[in-house]
Amino acid sequence: MRKLLAANWKMHFYPGEIKPLLNELITHWKKAEWGAHPTVLFPPMIYLREVISYLQDTPLQVGAQNGYPGEFGAFTGEVSMAQIAACGAQWVLVGHSERRQYFSENPTLLRNKLVDAQQRGLQVIYCIGETLSQRQGGETFAVLRQQIEEVLSKDTKWNSLAVAYEPVWAIGTGINATPDQAQEAHAFIRTLLAELGAPADRLSILYGGSLKPDNAVEIFSQPDVDGGLVGGASLRAETFISIAEALWNSPD
Ligand code: PEP
Repeated sequence: MRKLLAANWKMHFYPGEIKPLLNELITHWKKAEWGAHPTVLFPPMIYLREVISYLQDTPLQVGAQNGYPGEFGAFTGEVSMAQIAACGAQWVLVGHSERRQYFSENPTLLRNKLVDAQQRGLQVIYCIGETLSQRQGGETFAVLRQQIEEVLSKDTKWNSLAVAYEPVWAIGTGINATPDQAQEAHAFIRTLLAELGAPADRLSILYGGSLKPDNAVEIFSQPDVDGGLVGGASLRAETFISIAEALWNSPD
């Protein structure tokens, strides 16, 4: 099963704002046909434990938006992959363009994060994508290849990996990739994964970048688009639920 939906709440929500949203999601996901589709919420770290315990006994899974390789140590402000796993989280994001851009996360660090997360039993959504100038310069495929090859390898644990194609120019801009652009990139990524030895036809490749209820049906209808990583539209139950419906109703 390749369908996977993820909500990246980024640096949003104050105490008291989360439970009303979770209650609305739980109402939908407790229906058997919804609960069968893997769905992961990525709250801000400060709410991680609270969300995990609130969602116990529901099919909704929880992940961290970031994590630091290792167990514990003198790394002020960081939270280790081991701590995240010990809290009961199942997933972590690695390589989000905001981490690459604003926090200068380089390929060596990203590789260490990914390997460490998987060793500690976390599943990883590894995010890649080109900037606008890279797309306009015809470099999209070269950038995707580089971002895959510098972090993934034949030693990657493929059964705990999903990849998110998130063109940087589409994230938070309201401008989404066209279904054709998404399909072309996803098919290319699947080929790259196969070259590395991954069981590529079983891996989930998610699209992220201004996914909304009015573009989700078309984007999810593409054969190599297996799901979505949703930012802005995951902050309201109504829009996230309607994107979920589009995914559940899309062809397998
Ligand atoms: C994201 O941050 O992963 C994302 C896709 O954001 P948005 O949906 O807001 O473009």
